[in-house]
Amino acid sequence: MKHFEKSNKLEGVSYDVRGPVLEEAERMQEEGVSILKLNTGNPAPFGFEAPDEIVRDLIMNVRSSEGYSDSKGIFSARKAIEQYCQLKGFPNVTINDIYTGNGVSELITMCMQGLCNDGDEVLVPSPDYPLWTASVSLAGGKPVHYICDEESEWYPDLTDMRAKITSKTKAIVVINPNNPTGALYPKEILEGIVELAREFDLIIFSDEIYDRLVMDGLTHIPIATLAPDRFVVTLNGLSKSHRVAGFRVGWMVLSGDKKGVKDYIEGLNMLSSMRLCSNVLSQQIIQTALGGYQSSDELLLPGGRIYEQREYIYNALNDIPGLSAVKPKAAFYIFPKIDSKRFNITNDEQFVLDFLHEHKILLVHGGGFNWQKPDHFRIVYLPKMDDLKFTAEKLREFLATYQQK
Ligand code: PLP
Repeated sequence: MKHFEKSNKLEGVSYDVRGPVLEEAERMQEEGVSILKLNTGNPAPFGFEAPDEIVRDLIMNVRSSEGYSDSKGIFSARKAIEQYCQLKGFPNVTINDIYTGNGVSELITMCMQGLCNDGDEVLVPSPDYPLWTASVSLAGGKPVHYICDEESEWYPDLTDMRAKITSKTKAIVVINPNNPTGALYPKEILEGIVELAREFDLIIFSDEIYDRLVMDGLTHIPIATLAPDRFVVTLNGLSKSHRVAGFRVGWMVLSGDKKGVKDYIEGLNMLSSMRLCSNVLSQQIIQTALGGYQSSDELLLPGGRIYEQREYIYNALNDIPGLSAVKPKAAFYIFPKIDSKRFNITNDEQFVLDFLHEHKILLVHGGGFNWQKPDHFRIVYLPKMDDLKFTAEKLREFLATYQQK
């Protein structure tokens, strides 16, 4: 048989959250080794159950969800998203500006496919949720990484962002609250980004899937609400806030000034039609999920599981010689810094593999999030407290003697 290779389009595209480190963990599992996996932000397997009302809604709607829906989604779901946006103050959003998707993931790839010609540049944060970088590359664009500054609570470095803008830059991607850092951006930073988008006429893509998972009494500000005169695409979904990552429920909202983007929106409409529609049964739960009471709230207050686990892991990591971490304000990730000189670390993936082999715990290296230096890794702090305690103990033990060869 002829030799078949992957397409050139996949050249340079990577998604390391489920990449080589996971493959190694799976290989070990096949050999009968039990692995503690702290690599994906998937709440349900860690005992975070979806709210009953959501599950009931889903079951009740099986019969009425047998057919395709409008390609942008069913009326009740889009109406509920429209209302959610209105309450938050999004400018210029009607039901026609709302598209449901099979998770935010599908919409990220869709909106980049519709945007990029070969060589078009898109500003993406470093570190990022790596699907953004991968989707820009897959679409033929060039991801250009702007730095988020660990010394300033992991906020985007606006000077660096400005310096990276060229005549080929089309858009800025913002991930707020952020994966992998857990940062929540204040108004001044968001306004600074909008100012750059104004000055250089750029589209803003804002991934806000963690907007309902904010702690410490802080408030999430959707960047769209600060940019009535810009075209902003905001992405959100239920995977995290309602612990239904497996149901694949996401949406995308177009807001602000749409004068210059008629053609792009036509492209989005076509891409949306080509996949016919997102899972109709999953769309049925959006109205209930967004209506009123948010069942994630109690997890995020003192005494709640996410809050307490954040407190624990933040303190425990900072207590280990050679590690330091900024306190996450939202989501359920922490992105600690390793004193790489002290441990002679030149390859962060190797560091994670060495830890996996020695202690059977799976982390993801900073490079997996397009962080350029070999001095970070990400922990998902969803596992129950005992597992987090075990992880912190093993990290302490490991780093007491570790030297990379
Ligand atoms: N965006 C960010 C920032 C994420 O962290 C994730 C999942 O981890 C996604 C998007 C994908 O979410 P979904 O399950 O809606 O595809």
